[in-house]
Amino acid sequence: MDMLVDCTEFEKIISLQIDGEATESERQALEEHLSVCQNCPKTYRIFNRIKQVIRSRRTDFKPSSNYCSTVLNQLGPIDQPAIRTRSSNSKYRH
Ligand SMILES: [Zn+2]
Repeated sequence: MDMLVDCTEFEKIISLQIDGEATESERQALEEHLSVCQNCPKTYRIFNRIKQVIRSRRTDFKPSSNYCSTVLNQLGPIDQPAIRTRSSNSKYRH
């Protein structure tokens, strides 16, 4: 039984869905996944909120590659299952 689903794939579909750009099959897959996944419903709500924030301040909205993380920072930390902490111990060498 393969319980481990790649949630990052569904994060993409979630953002597509919120933008209204998800295909029918993507929407179905997402709906199924949301009913079994504990994390993605949260992600869905967060993405929804980001969308609202962006809409409410679109007067001065410049699309950039990191606008999502900027908004995420303003919303506070998210408890994501796969947090990657990159330790950079290779740079500091004597
Ligand atoms: Zn998921």
